[in-house]
Order: sequence, then structure tokens, then C-alpha cells
Amino acid sequence: MVEIWNWARTYSCRPRLYFEPKSVESLQEILKIINENQWKFRIIGCGHSPSSLALSDEVLISMKYFDQIIEINLEDKFVHCQSGVLIKSLNEILPSKNLSLPVQGSVSSLTIGGVISTGTHGSGIQFATLSSYVRSICLMKLNGNIVQYDRNDRDNEDLFRCLTCSLGTFGILLSISIDLTDLFYLELTQHQLKFDDFLNHLSVHISSSDHFRYMWFPHTQSGIAYHLQRRSPTIPLRKENLFQRIYSSIRHRIIGYHLLEIFFYISLYFPRFVRWINRFYLNFQGQNHHQISRCDHLFNFDCLFRQYANEWAIPIEETVSCLVKLEEFIERNYFVHFPIEIRFGRSETSSFLSPSFQRETCWINTVAYRPFGFEHRQHRKYFEEFERICFEHSGRPHWAKEHSLTYSELSRLYPQWNLFHQYRRKFDPTNLLINSCLEKIFLQHE
Ligand SMILES: Cc1cc2nc3c(=O)[nH]c(=O)nc-3n(C[C@H](O)[C@H](O)[C@H](O)COP(=O)(O)OP(=O)(O)OC[C@H]3O[C@@H](n4cnc5c(N)ncnc54)[C@H](O)[C@@H]3O)c2cc1C
Repeated sequence: MVEIWNWARTYSCRPRLYFEPKSVESLQEILKIINENQWKFRIIGCGHSPSSLALSDEVLISMKYFDQIIEINLEDKFVHCQSGVLIKSLNEILPSKNLSLPVQGSVSSLTIGGVISTGTHGSGIQFATLSSYVRSICLMKLNGNIVQYDRNDRDNEDLFRCLTCSLGTFGILLSISIDLTDLFYLELTQHQLKFDDFLNHLSVHISSSDHFRYMWFPHTQSGIAYHLQRRSPTIPLRKENLFQRIYSSIRHRIIGYHLLEIFFYISLYFPRFVRWINRFYLNFQGQNHHQISRCDHLFNFDCLFRQYANEWAIPIEETVSCLVKLEEFIERNYFVHFPIEIRFGRSETSSFLSPSFQRETCWINTVAYRPFGFEHRQHRKYFEEFERICFEHSGRPHWAKEHSLTYSELSRLYPQWNLFHQYRRKFDPTNLLINSCLEKIFLQHE
């Protein structure tokens, strides 16, 4: 029996049946068997979701062979591709056409189907989640019929806003068209920034570059500010020579990765050591740095080793109050791994279940590393408290990450929750696409 793990190796499943179909016809055959037996099933992209969202112990369908780019439209600037295409593959091909995705998350080994199903986001107050750039979706419904939905289709406006961030609960996304933008470079200016300065001048930071993010190093009263400004791709790029490449790879791999993993391992037995680790790495990583590179090279960064991740989207006006509470609490009780990543995004209306729906958003992501697969013992209690603070600040959890909210709380956080569920029930009346992770989110328990 095959065992499938998520990227962080925090959840796994042993599906009774596991499929890697290569054609639409095979998918239809699989759905026929599923319907005859009323088996529950899930669809999986890369399995990068830190929760068990994409897993199933009954039937699991991988979209890895739906990996074809169907069209790159230079005039209207969009790409139409199968749902299993990796963001990484788009990053390899689009620059040669002078195009790029408008915004990206921290890694690119993700499928386009996975990112739009979970409202994956990057940072930048002018930019929304990737779900909001979707132009059209080709969906295989549970009866095997294939339907095309378009954002300009006035008859299906609400349905389209459900489909663009649907957590894989409406059917199988076969292909997706998504907006592109002209290729751009990013100019990175990075420097250490005191936590208080960050909070006191928040609006200046957010608005003074296109894609601002702040990496907070808990227990240091400081962090690193990353300002990324869009630049024309005509600027000649400076290439590192061999010596510089060897030096930066030693710095990055040996100290930035392997040594850090050893340090975090030691801290499992001596939790106070986390304070020292955070301080050391703030100085190690926080040197002033300036670089210009192709956009995807600077949007993406190394998220290091396996980790638990918990991320919330709070209304932007709650940022200072929420982070101050969080700092008070962390300093009192816990030893928290760096970085707490703080990002920003614009308000959007194109996906009913986008955590940024109808509000400008501050995203707060916290991690608990699992050095060599071992666990940070305090992390459950810390995550509970982190969630409580975000929830008190009207936070909505990131759909792909771990959280403990259930139907009753979530239904109050999303104005169009009921409408989403009316449509969801039409597409999946017997809840075949609901696994245990989704049960607590989507099924109301009396
Ligand atoms: C190291 C790391 C860094 C990350 N960085 C960020 C970040 O910067 N910003 C951010 O927002 N998120 C981030 N994430 C979360 C990540 O973007 C999401 O978990 C994303 O969904 C992963 O894509 P995937 O292809 O692995 O999807 P999976 O985890 O395989 O699936 C995610 C969801 O999509 C559904 N799905 C996938 N394909 C289809 C399909 N064809 N039809 C129907 N449903 C489908 C699945 O059923 C599931 O519900 C990160 C995760 C990791 C592990």
C-alpha cells in the first residue's frame, strides 16, 4: 500500500486506491468507479500543504501528469495550462516570452491547481492572492462532465468566485488560465530593522516598495526588512564569479542550513538556546544587502527544513495591536523559532473564500522547525496561543496550513460562506470530496 506524505512530513495517508492518471478519459473512468462505490476521494498537487488538506485514506488522485502548458497568449498576457503544471515550470518558460506571474509565494515547487485552490499569496499591498488572477477554469465535475467557467461570464459570477479558491471541493480542476504581467526584475534592499521601528512606521514600509516583507526574529526585538522594487528587465545583471558562488553556497548551505539544523536540534533539550540562535542568525542573515535579479529568483527563498507552519490573515489595521500582543506573549512564555514572516496583500473580491476577501491583509506566518524530524516540544501550546491572538484580531487562517477553527467560527469570518456552501453542495451533494481535515471546516456539527 502506497504511503503519501506532505512536504513537511507532518501528515501522511495510505489511500486504499492511488491513481496517477495521464488523460481525461482515465480520470472519467476513475470517477465512474468512485461514484459506483460512493468512495471519498481527494486530489493532490505537490502535497506541499502543511496540513492534511490534500490527503485521503480512501482514494487519492495525483495530477502530476497533467503538466502541459496549453497556450501562452502574448497579446492578452495570460497562460492556459493544465492544473498539475508547476509554478517552477512557468518560471522557466515565461521569461523567454517576456512575461511573468504577477506575484509569487516563497517556493515554486507547487502546482497551479494547488496554489489557486488555497489562496496562495506573496507580499505587496498592490497584489492579491494568486486565486484572484484566474481568468478561466476547466472543471471535471463529479459525474465526469467537463465544464469551462470564465470570469467574464455574467451568468456564473458567484460560482466563479467559489471555484477560484475552493480547497479542491468542487471537482477536479483540469486546466486554468491565469493573468500574466510583463517580465520584471526586482531590486532587493535588505537591512536590519528594530521591531518597534517596523511597527511605528508600518505604513511607510508597506508603501515604500512594491513587495515589502518583514522577517521578525523573536526574542531579539529586531528583524530584517526586505524591500523589493520592480525594475525593467533591461538592466544588465551582475553575475557572481566562481569564488563568490562557492563562498555564498558554503555560507548558505553549511551555516545557513546544516549548522542551524544542529542548533535547533540542541535547542530541543535546551530551549533557552533558541534566543541565542535567533540573535546569531539575525546578525548572520541581516547584513545590508543589495541585489537585482529576475523576479522569481527574489520572490522565492529557501524555506529550510521540515517544519510545522501556521499562518493567519488579519485585517491590516489590526497589525500593530496583534503583533504587540504576540510579542508580549512570546516573551513571557515561549522560545519561538525565527522567522515570523510578516507580509501584506490587497483586498480582493474575486474569491469568496480568499482570506483577503474584502479587506487589506497582513499575513503572519509562524513556524516550528523539526530538526532531523524531531519536534519542538512546546509548539502545540504556542500555536494555540498564536491562533487565539490572531482570532481575537479577526484573523482568518491560511487554508493550506494548520489551524483549529471549525465551521461555526469560520462561517462568521466569511460574508459569503453560506453562498459558497450552497454551490459546494450542488457540486458534491454526498460530500465525496470531504476528508477529515475538511469535515471540521465545512460540515456543521450540532
Ligand atoms: C515550503 C513551503 C513554502 C510555502 N510558501 C507559501 C507562501 O509563500 N505563500 C502561501 O500562500 N503559501 C505557501 N505555502 C503553502 C502552499 O502554497 C500551498 O499549500 C499550496 O496549496 C501547495 O500547492 P500544492 O501543489 O502542493 O497543493 P497540494 O498541497 O497538493 O493541494 C492543495 C489543495 O489544492 C487541491 N488541489 C490541488 N490540485 C487540484 C486540482 N487539480 N483540482 C482540484 N483541487 C486540487 C487539493 O485537493 C488541496 O485541497 C508554502 C508551503 C510550503 C511547504
